[in-house]
Order: sequence, then structure tokens, then C-alpha cells
Amino acid sequence: FAKQNGRNQYAFYFDDLKKDSKRLIVLEAELRKAIQNKDFYIHYQPKIGLATQEIIGVEALVRWNNEKLGLVSPVEFIPLAEDTGLIIPLSEVILEIVCMDILESRSQGNISVLPVSFNIASLHFQQDDFIERINSIIMKYNCSPQLLELELTERTVMKDSEDIVVKLIKLKAMGFKISIDDFGTGYSSLSYLNRFPLNYLKIDRSFIQQITSLKDKQAIVEAIILMAHRLRIKVIAEGVETKDQAKLLKEMGCDIIQGYYYSKPLAPNDLLDFIEIWEIYRQERNL
Ligand code: C2E
Ligand code: MG
Ligand code: MG
Ligand code: MG
Repeated sequence: FAKQNGRNQYAFYFDDLKKDSKRLIVLEAELRKAIQNKDFYIHYQPKIGLATQEIIGVEALVRWNNEKLGLVSPVEFIPLAEDTGLIIPLSEVILEIVCMDILESRSQGNISVLPVSFNIASLHFQQDDFIERINSIIMKYNCSPQLLELELTERTVMKDSEDIVVKLIKLKAMGFKISIDDFGTGYSSLSYLNRFPLNYLKIDRSFIQQITSLKDKQAIVEAIILMAHRLRIKVIAEGVETKDQAKLLKEMGCDIIQGYYYSKPLAPNDLLDFIEIWEIYRQERNL
């Protein structure tokens, strides 16, 4: 009986494995097609400056709705794209869509377009011609680097080569702003930060989630904010979901908040509505 049971378990395990690898194969094939067809869209999540309650920018987050697979999360397809090298053409398609959205927003009379940050994958950033390639896309759409911010994870910049510093300094000189994303999840010593020309540090959601319940997390976040400010880097808290979290972060001197508490990532048209409503709300509160 035990033997039979064991065999069943093995069979189940094998079935799961088959299902997983089958999904991966379909995903990869569909992803290739989608990149070819530029079949993605972008949602934009507002970032709110705590001092003035202004929307100071938005983060571009890719969305993929596949006819066979339905909505696929970037948490699933970005790592697959990284493993298969598809991340490079995918990232370029994403940047093109961001530039087109900015153009579209301008054509609707929004002259003061908000700065847009977008996520840069390690493999993409490591390409020797990374700067030339993103620059040529931006020029093609007549978009200015001043409107764009690059979000790099700690892991990407921690590779600790002189190359990375040189690249970042060049990008900064061209007018791009630079953020470190998911800060606190890597293995970095804080001391490396001053070697990079950074504008923003984004504290990872895993810290923010627990700041109101765990004194340890609160202490860490407080220390990160202090240190960043010493280095003249602004701090963004990611994944803020409650009023209590926002209030505590404000007390701790955090500069900017991004999270469901203010808004989920929004389709371009919904973002325009949000901006309008937010301004009215802000002015009423200031009266
Ligand atoms: P990320 O860059 O750290 O983006 C923040 C993620 O947290 C987004 O998930 C966002 O929707 C989610 N989020 C924002 N506020 C809250 C909140 O209050 N609560 C919770 N629970 N979640 C919140 P999303 O869009 O699923 O993206 C996940 C990750 O996938 C991103 O993490 C980023 O690493 C990657 N990704 C997304 N879009 C792109 C892209 O265009 N290019 C690249 N290379 N990676 C991307
Ligand atoms: Mg990000
Ligand atoms: Mg993040
Ligand atoms: Mg994250």
C-alpha cells in the first residue's frame, strides 16, 4: 500500500512538473509573439509628495493581457523574460509604449507632463550599448530624459564595477533621474550609496508593511531615511496601504509615498481623471 501511495505521490509531482513546464513553454511562445506585436499596455501609479500633497510623478508598470492565458502578472513574465533574454526587446517595447503615452498625453493638452519612472532589468542595463539604445527610442518619440527616471534594483548596481558608476554618471548628465528600487532586500552595505549619483531611494514594501507593528522595522526605516537625507537622496516608501503607515512615515521625515492607500496603478485615462480630482481635493483642503 505504501509503495502504491508513494507512486501516486510521485505521479502527482510529475504531473505538476509537466504542467509547470508546459505553462512555461506556452508563456515563452506567447511572450515572443506579444513583443513582436507590442501587445502590452502600461499602468501608472501616482507618487505623492508628503510635504505638499502634490503628485510628483508616476511609476510605469507593464501589463499583459494574453488571449490564451488571460492577464499575466509581471511577477511571472518578467523573470521568464530575464531567463530567456527576451527582457531586452521587451524592455524596449515598454519604453516605446511609455513614450507614446507621454506623447498622447501632451496631444491632449497636458503640457506639464509628470515625470515617469520605469523599471530597468539587470541584463538590459548591462548591455554595452544600453545608453545609446534607450536614447534612440526616446529621441524617436521626441521625449526628453528630464521626464524619465530609471529604477534600478540594489542587485543591479551592487555588481560593484566601475562600469556601473560611469554609466550612471552619464545617464544623470543626460538628464535622467536615478532611483534604487526595492531598497533593503539586497545585500548592500549602506556605504556604497554615496558612490552613485542617486535621486531617490525606494524602501521596499516588505519593510513598510510592518512599520506600524514591528519596532525593529520602524527603526530600520528611520535609519534609512536619515542616512539617505545625509546623502541628499529623497526617500520613497513603496506599498503604503493604510493611513497609519502614511502618518508614521510623514513623522519619520519620508519624502514621497506610493501605494494603494493613495492609488493603485491606473490606465492612462484613469490617471488623467485622478490628477484632476486630486488637484481639486488638494485645493479644497488648503482653503
Ligand atoms: P516594483 O517595481 O517594486 O513595483 C511595485 C509593485 O508593487 C507593482 O506590482 C505595484 O502594482 C505593487 N504595489 C504598489 N503599491 C502597492 C500596495 O500598496 N500594496 C501592494 N500589495 N502592492 C503594491 P506589479 O505591477 O505587479 O509589478 C511587480 C514587479 O514587476 C515590479 O516591482 C517590477 O520589479 C516588475 N515590473 C513591473 N513592470 C515592469 C517593467 O515595465 N519592466 C521591468 N523590468 N520590470 C517590471
Ligand atoms: Mg519599481
Ligand atoms: Mg519596488
Ligand atoms: Mg518590489
